[in-house]
Amino acid sequence: MSSSAPATVSHPHDRASGPPVQCPGCGGTNDSNAVFCANAACRRALGGFSYVLEELERDTSRIAKLAERVAEASGRPHFVTAHLLWFAFWILANSGLVAFFSAFDAYPYGLLGIILSIEGVLITLFLLVSSNRQSAYAEKRAALDYEVNVRTWRLVNHLADRLDEVVTRLDRSEIPRSKDGASG
Ligand SMILES: [Zn+2]
Repeated sequence: MSSSAPATVSHPHDRASGPPVQCPGCGGTNDSNAVFCANAACRRALGGFSYVLEELERDTSRIAKLAERVAEASGRPHFVTAHLLWFAFWILANSGLVAFFSAFDAYPYGLLGIILSIEGVLITLFLLVSSNRQSAYAEKRAALDYEVNVRTWRLVNHLADRLDEVVTRLDRSEIPRSKDGASG
């Protein structure tokens, strides 16, 4: 899970819409519309709320990172190819057909069985750790989405209230306003 910068969306109001944003990580100065820190070594999210990947990165143990890598590697087609080659080599080497090898694990390949059992158990455990991490990620993301939604909802409500106030004042004022069909 890499934290690559998302595509930037430009909007006419983005340009010089506010003061520059200071990065809380490296202290660097960024454009007012920057989303991630421009410092390539930092790349910190600059929003006023948590960023799910940063949160997750912060409380990830070494074993969880390893599990993530193992889960990623074992899901690739190379993993299957490597195993097929390994089995082919093992069977050939122990069949006595190859001149350079003396058989070290005769049929029914007990040693291969033990190695594969250990590998199977380890991969299963790593996949479980990785799956737990995935669900933790989903939960965290849901919580952060909720936080942003609540903040936006409150802000929109506040703005709507202010707008109502403005409309009420305008209605009360003496400024003549054109109404449907009443323009002269
Ligand atoms: Zn920074």
